[in-house]
Amino acid sequence: MNERAALSSAHRRRRRTAGTLAVAAGLVIAACGPDTPEVDPSTLGTRAERPAVRGDLAYGLVQRQVDFGPRVPGSDGHRAQLAWMVETLTPLADTVFTDTFSHTTKEGVALELTNVHAVFGPQKGRRILLLAHWDTRPTSDQASDPADKAKPVPGANDGASGVAVLLELARLFHEQAPPTAVELLFVDGEDYGPTTDDMFLGARHYARTRVTESPPLFGVLLDMVGDTDLRLPMEGYSLEAAPQVVQRVWGLAQQLGYGTVFVSEVGQRILDDHLPLIDAGVPTIDLIDFDYGPGNAYWHTPLDTPDKVSPRSLEIVGEVVAELVYRNR
Ligand SMILES: [Zn+2]
Repeated sequence: MNERAALSSAHRRRRRTAGTLAVAAGLVIAACGPDTPEVDPSTLGTRAERPAVRGDLAYGLVQRQVDFGPRVPGSDGHRAQLAWMVETLTPLADTVFTDTFSHTTKEGVALELTNVHAVFGPQKGRRILLLAHWDTRPTSDQASDPADKAKPVPGANDGASGVAVLLELARLFHEQAPPTAVELLFVDGEDYGPTTDDMFLGARHYARTRVTESPPLFGVLLDMVGDTDLRLPMEGYSLEAAPQVVQRVWGLAQQLGYGTVFVSEVGQRILDDHLPLIDAGVPTIDLIDFDYGPGNAYWHTPLDTPDKVSPRSLEIVGEVVAELVYRNR
């Protein structure tokens, strides 16, 4: 556990041959996956009439979150971010509520964690679930300088980027109601760690408590979507568990002209918040660029700062997800 993600390619090839999983502080890189699905643009319909996503606004929301300081459970930054999200969402969504729960880590630390929910058009049938984690990692375990390893991660990309896109989408959904019900879910405790025993906590809680009584139609997870050179291959578990959702999202991206970002390639399999949902029966995909900086050098380090994030990347991801929602029937 806790190995570096930035394995050399030779190392990676060996792992593939061996068919093993490399656990990298909660994000797993793994062996061969399924083939890339064919996208048939004629099945996607025509462009939705809807407001445009604004990358500059989304970028401002990234900066705002980083300004709170690290959003580590129990910290001042965590408390400030929680209050701000609720305050931001309340005038925008039909229903906003928080769900606080506790978790005791393997090392005996008692955490108080909170998921935030914002629902649009709850009367419109089964909902689309869009989620991102809002907490940040307590330690920079991937930092190359040992002196940095104890520092918390600023989380501009790993945390703030997904939240920023979802909040920008909330602005759109308020301006023009989506045709179907949508739930925005901001999960806590994704990145606590250090091992996967104490990660994905908010998604696990949601899968345990909310899915059986009222399962979403499908889910889309946004994680590390702000990288300046954003490149999103089709994450391996998503392809296995929700190939139709992958096909539709990458097809829409192609139609919108973002084929160089949403690349038609099978990506790594990554342990993330989509897995508890998949296990609970909700087909959920993970939009993630797990190649953050040269050799993934910014991931889980103090280098995960707003200058590594681009407004345009946030805008592209937001546009594709907006198109998915507004074109849903
Ligand atoms: Zn992380």
